[in-house]
Amino acid sequence: MNPVIRPLIAGNWKMNGLRASMAEFERMLAGSAAVAGKADLLVCPPATLVAAFAEKARGSMGLAIGGQDCHPDPAGAHTGDISAEMLADAGARAVIVGHSERRADHGESDALVRRKAEAAWRAGLAAIVCIGETRQQRDQGHAVAVCRDQLQGSLPDGARADSLIVAYEPVWAIGTGLTPTPKDIEQIHQLIRAVLTMRFSTEGARMRILYGGSVKPSNAGELMAIANVNGALVGGASLMAADFLAIAANCP
Ligand code: PEP
Repeated sequence: MNPVIRPLIAGNWKMNGLRASMAEFERMLAGSAAVAGKADLLVCPPATLVAAFAEKARGSMGLAIGGQDCHPDPAGAHTGDISAEMLADAGARAVIVGHSERRADHGESDALVRRKAEAAWRAGLAAIVCIGETRQQRDQGHAVAVCRDQLQGSLPDGARADSLIVAYEPVWAIGTGLTPTPKDIEQIHQLIRAVLTMRFSTEGARMRILYGGSVKPSNAGELMAIANVNGALVGGASLMAADFLAIAANCP
């Protein structure tokens, strides 16, 4: 029998948010109890807001704070970077690694993403490892192979169900309003589950696999009902409390 996996709705604020955004975050926090029966919530604001949001969320049962990226080293001469230890010290519980915008804008390789995931664990954070194909790769019929290779290259050994989350985010679906068909999402999520189970046995069978790419309240119900979709990584729609909470409310 398949294990019951509690969904996670993670919000990636990207390079959005000022101290004035605290009011919106407080609305998320206030609404989180109402969706606690449906899903765990994670908000990943820009690094400048991690400590303030984490302080505000302290004691919350259903909403945690995460980072959007981390350097593989714990400290050192890396101007402008932030370590997993710093995120943990600021109150984060998880960190996104290998988002396609990092892979594209900063040339991040699978090997580097793997080191970042290891850094997250070293600091006691869960790692959300992102993978996904480009439009061209999908059109050429390479989506499955691309996702399998990214996954194999980006996942460290020894992952546990509470320390690793995988997010399937087709690059062409991010911020575009486009989503793959449910059948296409199911195919990739099934592949991810197979790889996770092969690599991590029963732990892999219990890991959360998120779908990301233009998730909004109007399509969340359909997307969250797909086999092996255990939540969502949400960009644009995570900036507004009403939308973010409505997505969580749509989890089965
Ligand atoms: C993302 O960048 O992780 C994302 C899924 O963005 P959006 O929801 O805006 O497509």
